[in-house]
Amino acid sequence: MTPVKKLATMTMSEPPRSHGRLSARPTIRPRDLMEGPPPVKGAWTARIVTLFPEAFPGTLGLSLTGRALAEGRWALETFDLRPHGIGRHRMVDDTPAGGGAGMVLRADVVAAALDEAALGTNPDRARWPLIYLSPRGAPFTQGSARRLATTDGVTILCGRFEGVDQRVLDAYAIEEVSLGDFVLTGGEIAAQAMLDATVRLLPGILGNAASTEDESFSAGLLEYPQFTRPPVWQGREIPPVLISGHHGEIAKWRKAEAERITRERRPDLWAAQQGGQNR
Ligand code: SAH
Repeated sequence: MTPVKKLATMTMSEPPRSHGRLSARPTIRPRDLMEGPPPVKGAWTARIVTLFPEAFPGTLGLSLTGRALAEGRWALETFDLRPHGIGRHRMVDDTPAGGGAGMVLRADVVAAALDEAALGTNPDRARWPLIYLSPRGAPFTQGSARRLATTDGVTILCGRFEGVDQRVLDAYAIEEVSLGDFVLTGGEIAAQAMLDATVRLLPGILGNAASTEDESFSAGLLEYPQFTRPPVWQGREIPPVLISGHHGEIAKWRKAEAERITRERRPDLWAAQQGGQNR
């Protein structure tokens, strides 16, 4: 089933937008005249529920993730909260119960958008997690990205303002995930960061352009320092071992440097690594 067919059956007030090669907008051009191949069957799919669909694909449309998106190796679909808003003005938020500053996204509005986004997805949350990005969530790690990359897809709710009415989070048993101990104005940047980290781990996305085996966090360590040409820059040399051609020595040097940097900068990671708890 192509995303276009899927989208056609779930059109409500406005069709969700697809950000891959195929778009939800009707076309008079026959399929074979459209540029590029159709999405790979069963491609990993991200569905984003947001007040700002125009924020996507954003940086995910660039470079390796962008090319993979255009080639249909993964799919990105946005679901606009606004059409589910209440009344003529499509109100999506209201003042917090109990008083205080700001606005809260309404449970009924968010629920309607989540229901729309759920159509056609795997109801098994292990295969298709439902995530609300929130500073109160469990911290997102490389381990989370690795797990997410083994699912069929993910649905991500982006909050705005003071966040989302707690009742919809409870009713839908949404998993809360945080990008870190800071507060953003909305979940869209967090969603892009999370998707970037995940999509690059999908099979066949990076190719030989980068290795995901050697990089930071892969063995519970931060990465060793990298160098490239010129061999001498402003009087600074590349560590001679790296141009020695001696692969065993190079591997030893890199491991020692990765350990030193992890010990110095992230005692928490170092302790976990020593405890054998690779994350
Ligand atoms: N009042 C909330 C913050 C709301 S920020 C609180 O104090 O916890 C508005 C939205 O931005 C949130 O609903 C969430 O979707 C997103 N957001 C903000 N910081 C984030 C973070 N560190 N990680 C993930 N999402 C975040």
